[in-house]
Amino acid sequence: MIGRLFGSLSQKVPSFLYRASLMMKPQVVFVLGGPGAGKGTQCSKIVENYNYTHLSAGDLLRAERAREGSEFGQLISNYIKEGKIVPVEITINLLKKAMEETMGKDEKKFRFLIDGFPRNEDNLQGWNTAMDGKADVKFVLFFDCSNEVCINRCLERGKSSGRTDDNRESLEKRIQTYLQSTRPIIELYEKHGKVRTVDASRSVDEVFADVKTILGVE
Ligand code: UDP
Ligand code: MG
Repeated sequence: MIGRLFGSLSQKVPSFLYRASLMMKPQVVFVLGGPGAGKGTQCSKIVENYNYTHLSAGDLLRAERAREGSEFGQLISNYIKEGKIVPVEITINLLKKAMEETMGKDEKKFRFLIDGFPRNEDNLQGWNTAMDGKADVKFVLFFDCSNEVCINRCLERGKSSGRTDDNRESLEKRIQTYLQSTRPIIELYEKHGKVRTVDASRSVDEVFADVKTILGVE
């Protein structure tokens, strides 16, 4: 009797631990594309329809910039206005904290859309160093559209967004950064067959129809 009980327990415990460890490991989709490609808009729609948590690196940086007592406020402010990419130590800490907080509240919330990251080599290295073995990157969701569409959308958004970087001067720098630093990261993932590309120049609903097809099969 005792032997049987013990036997069934010892079988159950490891499988429970195994399942728990699988459950706990964050499953990540990186969401990339030019400024104004629609990353944030599409992420909101994904969150409405799927069990994902949306973490925008840009939003996290803007919140840190605004946080009273932050030692990085001024630095973040300058980088954003100049369309430059903030040193990864800052961004990765914000992302890690947000992921831990989400999963700490609800362990079933282990699927993340990480929007606007990794944007350059430094970001990618920082992620690999901090998250090696701790999270699985499923794929990169790439919203592809021309620079012209990106610029026009951001200028339109700039009328009401209040963002310090939705103006022509900052936008030109952001596009440069995107072409020089972010595109090579997307190409790197492409070589590993990890990019799902969507034509983002169309309407929100048309783009989302493609997104659903991609998420449906993953
Ligand atoms: N940014 C950064 N590192 C990141 C994400 C954003 O330094 O990982 C900064 C960068 O200056 C960028 C700005 O935040 O130009 C705005 O990023 P966001 O993703 O909000 O802009 P979007 O591409 O969505 O228009
Ligand atoms: Mg955004």
